[in-house]
Amino acid sequence: MKRLWNGLKNIIFSPFVYRMYVRFQLFLKALRIACYSVLFGLATYLIAPYHSVEPVLRPDYDMFMIMAKATCRDDQLFLPKKTIVRFGDLSQQKDEWGNKGRVIGLCERDYPKMWRLTFNRYWWFTASDAERSALIYHEMTHCLLLKDHVYGNPADYMSPVIPTVDRFGLYKQVLDTLTATCRR
Ligand SMILES: [Zn+2]
Repeated sequence: MKRLWNGLKNIIFSPFVYRMYVRFQLFLKALRIACYSVLFGLATYLIAPYHSVEPVLRPDYDMFMIMAKATCRDDQLFLPKKTIVRFGDLSQQKDEWGNKGRVIGLCERDYPKMWRLTFNRYWWFTASDAERSALIYHEMTHCLLLKDHVYGNPADYMSPVIPTVDRFGLYKQVLDTLTATCRR
């Protein structure tokens, strides 16, 4: 019995076991740091505002924001905490009539205060400057004012198909829409 105990004692208090113990402590420390880092990253992601706007789309995005803030109070707008505005693949999206491959812009609100605006880059290169602006204002009106399409007036920038518009007619349409929504 005593011999067994001595043998056990030699193993338990051996330098090898001690080294393993120290390594295990170090491992726990690293694990703790890793957990805190993940938690910190997650908290930052949830709390911090984040706006990522494709530079090419930025001027129209900013212009719409200026018009919206000039007409509406902040609490009348669904201002996002996070924004992703970019070109993307919309070929699998269906339009109002169920056709795939015709969607040129999309506004998604997949998180209470998260917008994802996606634009079709192929359409972009075939469109005029004013049409590009009309598309961005159209999608932002969906997201920012939760406004649906206008039917029966193909010249309206909120009709399901983007009309051919001139820039100043477009500004007027946008400001009229904003006024009708916010200054009731
Ligand atoms: Zn639309």
